[in-house]
Amino acid sequence: MDIKEYKDIYVFCEEKDGAINDASLELLGEARRLVENRPQLGYKVIGVAIGNLDEDLINEIGYHGADKIIWLYNKDINHYSTEIFTTLFVDEVIKKDKPDIVLIPATVMGRDLAPRIAARCDTGLTADATKLEFDPENENSSLLYVTRPAFGGNLFGTIVNETKRPQMTTIRPGVMEKLPKDASRQFEIDKREVSIVNINDPVKLVEVLPRDHMAVDITKADIIISGGRGIGDNFHILEECAKMIGAEVGASRGAVDKGYIAKDHQVGQTGKTVRPKVYIACGISGAVQHLAGMEKSDFIIAINKDPDAPIFSVANIGFVGDALEIVPLITEEIKKYRE
Ligand code: FAD
Repeated sequence: MDIKEYKDIYVFCEEKDGAINDASLELLGEARRLVENRPQLGYKVIGVAIGNLDEDLINEIGYHGADKIIWLYNKDINHYSTEIFTTLFVDEVIKKDKPDIVLIPATVMGRDLAPRIAARCDTGLTADATKLEFDPENENSSLLYVTRPAFGGNLFGTIVNETKRPQMTTIRPGVMEKLPKDASRQFEIDKREVSIVNINDPVKLVEVLPRDHMAVDITKADIIISGGRGIGDNFHILEECAKMIGAEVGASRGAVDKGYIAKDHQVGQTGKTVRPKVYIACGISGAVQHLAGMEKSDFIIAINKDPDAPIFSVANIGFVGDALEIVPLITEEIKKYRE
């Protein structure tokens, strides 16, 4: 393998519920940041989309930072298939275009797809990265330094892949920043008609069931009020407050493990990464694994009985006291103010 033949940053752009998901748009933003910080490489950001997609979706990829979109089109690809997507990505993109770097969102689909692509290309994959940068020692190098949490988030490790290409990594949703949509951006669409007749897909899709309508998506909330073990089985007080202030309810893993609230609400390293305008942590100690999922929130309010709780180290405002008393008081005051 001559690694000098490999160039550019490719981003797998995932369609979900009729849109390119935010996790992919965030990676386009991060890829743009990387190429603009190292213009001497002359690298482009290339989005890769697969399937019978609407042309408007393909344009979204360009509006959010791609210089070019490789669209592997086949009218019969109307849902994700591990085998079809892996084969097409490897045969129609990696073998033909030789990407130096491939970024894939660490969504359910991305976590399924990325390791298979990496294995088929005999390259490495760094999963769940939180930071990407080009080799800081050599300004002409495209070697990617990929940082990810290790040992339960107590340490961060930086991984480089010096000998194989592409350099592959998955990045969790909510970690990188997407660029604002710019409909005036210029980009190229390279639509390639691909055949799937020779791909033996052992999985037959029987039915697609919509997500439970009660399932929450806390990653999109502007305000999150989260509870930990200190709230016990009193999450109803957070729900009442959330209704008053237009928030979603989040939780620590401590609370989820105790069964106080469903896993969909969990914030942190093994839960969701959130970046709301306001994050209110109630009865949460602030373990590193929790902080990893919320410390980039714009404004953090912490309520904890223990003045030494680590959550206060990331809080903009802290209340030392009993959340079971303070939260209902806040709800009551807002109610009065509204009336
Ligand atoms: P505790 O640590 O028990 O803290 C409870 C806090 O509530 C205390 O600070 C206490 O002072 C306060 N308190 C008690 N009563 C009250 C009251 N009435 N009013 C106000 N304050 C009160 N954790 C996550 O949250 N998310 C993750 O994604 C995650 N992933 C993990 C992954 C790994 C590999 C590992 C090893 C751990 C992970 N954890 C995660 C667990 C994490 O280490 C902590 O154990 C967990 O966050 C603790 O939850 P907690 O803060 O609710 O509970």
